[in-house]
Amino acid sequence: MPTAAVEDYAKAIYSLTGWGSETASTNDLAERLGVRAGSVSAMIKKLDEAGLVERVPYHGVRLTTDGTRVAMTVLRRHRLLELFLAEVLDVPWERVHAEAEVLEHALSEDLTDLISAKLGNPEVDPHGDPIPDRDLEIIEAETVVLADLAPGDSARFSRVSDSNPEMLAYLSRCGIAVGDELELIERQPFEGPITVKIGDESHVLGLTLAQAMRVEHTG
Ligand SMILES: [Zn+2]
Repeated sequence: MPTAAVEDYAKAIYSLTGWGSETASTNDLAERLGVRAGSVSAMIKKLDEAGLVERVPYHGVRLTTDGTRVAMTVLRRHRLLELFLAEVLDVPWERVHAEAEVLEHALSEDLTDLISAKLGNPEVDPHGDPIPDRDLEIIEAETVVLADLAPGDSARFSRVSDSNPEMLAYLSRCGIAVGDELELIERQPFEGPITVKIGDESHVLGLTLAQAMRVEHTG
């Protein structure tokens, strides 16, 4: 059984290498995990010796097949827990991530499968992140950053980072939810805000928010 720290590293490396970049650097991992670069280097050495990561000189690390299995196992638990907390216990969506961060290390495989079955073997969590199935297969849909759309583009809001509770609470207050269909109306120059239309309502969204929201292009 990998330790909680090993699971956290595997998960962090997976998410840092998932969207476009091939390797996760020591600095990126330190920032993501909130630890010093020296601690990251020491842990990477251990993960390498355990066969969970492969070091790419001057670039960082990537997960091996065994490392990917660790990441998928903990992501499956994390994302099922988030959905369980949100749907069964009515925990607000901006709070489920912090709870799942703790519980994810304690869940047995049997309990994970029971939660999945109870929820109807769902494919995505409350933030739109895909849930690995029992065989640890994951389906990553093609998404783009909302901020990259052009005026007139239509898209479905499909995914948002789960780690910024204020941002999630703000989206809730605006009545914006994963799954919403939207159209980009206008973008202000010089990294200014963008205007999107969702249903009959227009929303002006700051660039930081528009960069955290991922969408599937629909037209
Ligand atoms: Zn989460």
